Amino acid sequence: MSVTLQQPVASKSDDRKYKLIKLPVNDIEILLISDPTTDKSSAAVNVNAGQLQDPIERQGLAHFLEHMLFLGTKKYPDASQFDQHLNQYSGYSNAFTALDQTNYFFHCSNAGFKEALDRFAWFFIEPLFTKELTSREMNAVNSENQKNLQQDLWREYQLNRSTSKEGNPFNKFGTGNLETLNFESTREDLIKFYNQYYSSNLTKVVILSNETLEELETQAVELFSQIPNRKLPKPVYKESPFDSTNLKKFLKIVPCKQEKRLKFSWVLPNYEKNYRKNPTKLFSYLYGHEGEHSLLSALMDAGYAEALRSSESQIMGLFSQLSVTVVLTEQGFENYEKVINFVSAYTKMLKEKANQQWVYDEFKNISQLKFDFKDKEEPIDYTYEIATAMQECEYIDILRTDNAPEPYDKDLLQSALDALIVDNLRITLISPTLTEECNLTEKYYQTKYSIEPISESIIKAFENPQIPHDSKKMDLPPKNTLLPQKFDLFTSETDAPPKDLLNNEFIELWYKQDSQFKIPKVTLKLRFKNNDCGLGLTARAEVQTKLWTNLFNEFTRELRYQAEMALLDSNLEFKQELTLTVDGFSDSITNFMELYLQKLVEFDVSKLQKEFQIQLNKLQKDLKNFFKQPPYQQGNTYNEYFLQTRTFSPKQLQEESLNIQFDTFVEFSTNFLKALRLELLIGGSLTSESALNIGNICTAHIFEKRGAKPVKKSDLIDRRVIQPAVDQVYVYTETLGEEETNNYICANYEDGESVSVRSRVIMELLGNVFSESFFTQLRTNECLGYICWSRTNAIRGVGFVRFIIQSDVQPPQYLASRIHSFLQQQKIRLEELTSEQFEKIRAAVEVDIREKDFSIKKQTERYFEYIVQHHYTFDLKEKMIEELKKIKLADLVQAFKKIFFTNKRCSQLHLVSPKHVEQNALYMKVTQPYSGFENITNPESIKFKCSLHPDYYTYKI
Ligand SMILES: [Zn+2]
Repeated sequence: MSVTLQQPVASKSDDRKYKLIKLPVNDIEILLISDPTTDKSSAAVNVNAGQLQDPIERQGLAHFLEHMLFLGTKKYPDASQFDQHLNQYSGYSNAFTALDQTNYFFHCSNAGFKEALDRFAWFFIEPLFTKELTSREMNAVNSENQKNLQQDLWREYQLNRSTSKEGNPFNKFGTGNLETLNFESTREDLIKFYNQYYSSNLTKVVILSNETLEELETQAVELFSQIPNRKLPKPVYKESPFDSTNLKKFLKIVPCKQEKRLKFSWVLPNYEKNYRKNPTKLFSYLYGHEGEHSLLSALMDAGYAEALRSSESQIMGLFSQLSVTVVLTEQGFENYEKVINFVSAYTKMLKEKANQQWVYDEFKNISQLKFDFKDKEEPIDYTYEIATAMQECEYIDILRTDNAPEPYDKDLLQSALDALIVDNLRITLISPTLTEECNLTEKYYQTKYSIEPISESIIKAFENPQIPHDSKKMDLPPKNTLLPQKFDLFTSETDAPPKDLLNNEFIELWYKQDSQFKIPKVTLKLRFKNNDCGLGLTARAEVQTKLWTNLFNEFTRELRYQAEMALLDSNLEFKQELTLTVDGFSDSITNFMELYLQKLVEFDVSKLQKEFQIQLNKLQKDLKNFFKQPPYQQGNTYNEYFLQTRTFSPKQLQEESLNIQFDTFVEFSTNFLKALRLELLIGGSLTSESALNIGNICTAHIFEKRGAKPVKKSDLIDRRVIQPAVDQVYVYTETLGEEETNNYICANYEDGESVSVRSRVIMELLGNVFSESFFTQLRTNECLGYICWSRTNAIRGVGFVRFIIQSDVQPPQYLASRIHSFLQQQKIRLEELTSEQFEKIRAAVEVDIREKDFSIKKQTERYFEYIVQHHYTFDLKEKMIEELKKIKLADLVQAFKKIFFTNKRCSQLHLVSPKHVEQNALYMKVTQPYSGFENITNPESIKFKCSLHPDYYTYKI
């Protein structure tokens, strides 16, 4: 039986149904969400216990326990059963451990949900914590920690904790590693922790499915009433980890990346109970503003900043942390005390002006608008976010946490402003050049740092900030003129594919009127297909295009930020091609496009030498920092370089960036985007006349006003994807940076056929066959590393099945041999597959293909892919489903044998940690598992000599 609680307020654009209940038998609280149109169901469980509860001698235990709950329960003892089940129903699960919460969540197709939920509920009814898996899984935790060791974000987060008050629960290490977890008694410790902190009365559940609320309630009562109630009190923390002994401090840190930053962190009163009008959110918004009169604009104008970000969080129910981080230029670093004066002057301005009704109201109105016209969330994101909110907010607000209306409260805002003082502040200076001053070493990440009291001169700067008289004006943001005024709908009752409105020598304009979402929003995608300045031919042109894009983004920053605050996001991005994305309220988009493209007409690089220098330095740093990224991220870029023509290695790009000069760049910019063709899609709530009007605005600005020449479709040249010969394995190896302790492998298998719908479907089926078994075999059983994925993936229309492992224990050659034996095992498994099992795989893939787009943006982006790939198959999903129905088990087995054995065409990227280079070479000698192994030292040579896939994107097949 259940008791109905206060119902949450939902957005007016939300058609889901909600019911919040409590089960008197064990006091568990559950939100039921019924959505008859959903393709996937999801559930999340949030337990009010986390890292703060770790025993001091078992740090990371809460996180380790989170991993262990997935590995067998009394009713379902097999460790891989949950994942296997999810895999059969196109599902996925994850979890994370926070300070005082642990959140578990999954989604899967509706058909598999009931059973999945039963398995999931047993995590909290009776998990096994088997001895064997306890000792195995701590390797995955250790590997997860290894993955983070070189990441500055993690290092700084830990340093904040390590330099807090000793003995405070906050002063701990949350991830855990073998040193903190590998003990004789660890299994008993896990069980003790579970019994001590996991209890139904502190657990919140969210269930979303296509069934009715009544049906969901019956299931929820049956399953979740079994969770034991240990009647635990909600954890309460008494003592703040920050006080006068560790505030008013100046820290210095040596980062891993080449980046200089200055961070301000204020410890303010706690506003958890006042979350509806939380002042730290307002002040974080004001400090982080990037429009006219912002702190960032003034710092950039002074040549001190490259970027600025702000954030806020509520911690332990005791305090708020408000942080402002300035990414410094070289000049900013040398003059960091002047930067402090700017921040102090901005703070002073806030104290004088920010506590006004209209400032608060505008901030609140925007968040109300966001809530009223929100896009539908994907079930898995939605459930875990609400489960978190249920621990933190009143029930009426759990669907609108940040957007709950509350009138202006002068005193409350004042309390936060009054606390923005140097006594509550920590300043951190971060730079690779600080090695000599940083005489301390953090215990868990080995971060070099120092900590001193804030100096007298900085204290003075906060009392009486001094900034140059000719500095750019800092003030509150001006009233936003781009805020939408009208919310009329221009949607259609019938669903039709995108329509070709214009197709001439300048532009291909496509238009898709919304018939599904019925909110007054649009998404615009504009691709500049330019054929000038040697793009695709030289590394220099590539670097110059990146630089041009960054400089133009800076040139338009204030306008774009104003639009963003009016809920119209825009992003110009260069990733092989230059693409502009704009999405938000329909009412302001035409106006915005006029203003934005006018900026393109006015953009004159010759007048921007100072800005050029800042952006060039930033780009040089970014290209250098590429080599400090985690290997699995570097892998994506190396793969693109390895597998495609007209691309350049990260090293080439980095070197080329050192040769860019202002005058040659001005010349480049004069010719850039002067020979091009536009591809444009606008989707959402607007009429075809408005779409046509926007198309005309684009051509008028780019061709008439800016003087570009049109380029014929047939004159554009694109990248091509290499195709290894049959029975060939190309292995491209790079050695990672000095400090890197992880290795990486990505093995790509392609099917050798052109991209037919059938081939796409086969790849999807194979992707599903492997995903769970690959994870279970290589991560859970063989403990090779935390990141173990198998996926289907496509580059320029060429499909791959891809296996990825990042490993701190074994080098790539060893990993390659394990992938090979995995595939051999799969051969046997596939041969033994019953037709019943095959039908499950087919059904899971069908759910994935059918899955509806969640927003106008998602839908527009999907259709835009079909447009830029020039196949215009807008009914691709339907075609794939038709094809899927025709494929038989024998076809799949045959394709499997062909792709991985008889007709194998494989390319492998190996990234080796310097620690493992020798071992890797040794493995290469002794374990060459393949025929056709070819070591590629220079990918350029292979691109030159091997055959290429036809260019599916272009016009010269
Ligand atoms: Zn983890």
